[in-house]
Amino acid sequence: MKRNFAAAIGAMVLAALTTTARAAPCLVVTLTGTQGGPTVFSGQAGAGTLVSYGDDSKSCGAVKLQFDAGRGTNMRLSQINVTPVQLCWIFLTHIHGDHTEGLSDVMMLRWYLKGPKIDVVCSADAVSPLGFTNSCRNYITHIADAFLQFGEIAERRSEDSARLAGGPADLANVLTFEPKEEPQVVWSSGDVTVRAIRSTHIAAHASYRLDTPAGSVVIGGDASNDMPAPPRAHSTSDQVERLAYGADVIVHSTIHPVLCPDGGSGFPAPSFYRQSLASDLGAMAKRVGTKYLILTHLAPSLGTARHNRWNVPGGALAEADYRKAVEASGFTGTTIVGTDLATLRLPPK
Ligand SMILES: [Zn+2]
Repeated sequence: MKRNFAAAIGAMVLAALTTTARAAPCLVVTLTGTQGGPTVFSGQAGAGTLVSYGDDSKSCGAVKLQFDAGRGTNMRLSQINVTPVQLCWIFLTHIHGDHTEGLSDVMMLRWYLKGPKIDVVCSADAVSPLGFTNSCRNYITHIADAFLQFGEIAERRSEDSARLAGGPADLANVLTFEPKEEPQVVWSSGDVTVRAIRSTHIAAHASYRLDTPAGSVVIGGDASNDMPAPPRAHSTSDQVERLAYGADVIVHSTIHPVLCPDGGSGFPAPSFYRQSLASDLGAMAKRVGTKYLILTHLAPSLGTARHNRWNVPGGALAEADYRKAVEASGFTGTTIVGTDLATLRLPPK
């Protein structure tokens, strides 16, 4: 893939990375949203993960990479004093609304604040088995069409001509790649490398791995096994497993076994089977030797007796229920049951 480095931030980022190469490197993983699926519960933000990397002198925050940006991403970023202008790169696992709704907000504010261009990395267009095209490029190209159409872009630009005429879409360098069965480098700069692999959920779904001298983080997204339903060895993705081998951290969407189709919830089987079970994620984390498993995009959310339109059999789940499901797999690393703004630092202090 062509390395189309965003020129406006290039010098700044390279300088930061050069500095961090000499200082003690560190990174911080922050969940910017943990809602599982399109609904919303109790103010949870939509799925997304911020990885900040740098050194102790800058609170591990010299460069900031955002993976997915669901509803409310800007609000969560604001709570940790991060503005959209500070994001260096954005990666999308797939173009479902619960992972992308917040991106228009992020890009609109970045445009308003006259932030520099930013690379948005995602899969090339792909057609689903039913013939629907999933197009990240189209999504980004039209991300602010409504604001263009009703006149806000032109009006605000008349107030400050430094704002780009095309609005937020003009700020994005969309860099696409063809997801493959084996990890491929889709981004690198300085001592940061991002690899991707094809994974199953919807067409064009991809999972990522970020490697830095401070550690490595896998962002599984909503990946599940290529086999769409049992019988199968496990619900997790074999490709994500290859990607995650030896990684320090796995951040992954999670469904609890309590929603299984024959358990009385009424939750649709296809939706259930295209997510990874907490128990299987624990088993995968054990196989690949991961130290930290961060469960996010929880289905069901903690503390609710309803998931979307369906009852949770036995009532609302607590953190301990997810932890129990993971530990049943024999995983002995650290499990973090994700809540908005949960963080993990590497190396630990
Ligand atoms: Zn999702």
